[in-house]
Amino acid sequence: MASIFGHGLVAYTATKVIDQKSNKLLMYLAIGSAMLPDLDVIAFRLGTDYLHPLGHRGFTHSILFATVWGGLISLIFFKDRKYVAFLVLFISTMSHGILDAMTTGGEGVGFFIPFENSRYFFSFREIRVSPIGIRRFFSEWGLKVILSELKFIAIPCFVLLSVNYFGRKRTETKQ
Ligand SMILES: [Zn+2]
Repeated sequence: MASIFGHGLVAYTATKVIDQKSNKLLMYLAIGSAMLPDLDVIAFRLGTDYLHPLGHRGFTHSILFATVWGGLISLIFFKDRKYVAFLVLFISTMSHGILDAMTTGGEGVGFFIPFENSRYFFSFREIRVSPIGIRRFFSEWGLKVILSELKFIAIPCFVLLSVNYFGRKRTETKQ
């Protein structure tokens, strides 16, 4: 994975840009959704093979998982705004696998599991894999992760957030 900060920031940005009301609960659930796919490390630790459909970067990183998860949560918590909520949650969950597919290490992402078990990377792979554990995070490795995420995640998110913010301000003052 990229770091939890990288994944969280993308979900925050998606919520701000898509949900005009910036609903707090939706924001928290979106951030949680962007981190959720890595729960598969539990299966990994229990001895499931990395490349098994349920292994790391497997089913929980797939398009089907993001669709089902986004659908369930939006129906449970956001009945009257389910389409907006679904879009935010789907994009947040999916963004995790997309970022993983741009990382420099590990195996590829199983976007099409359970229909097809291949693992994919994008041709653009510049995001450093984040070390697991706090101590290793605050090391030279961690620093490289932070720098690569600043460049390829934080700056694009910041640009989107600013465009969104000033765009809204303009429409507000016009009204
Ligand atoms: Zn992951």
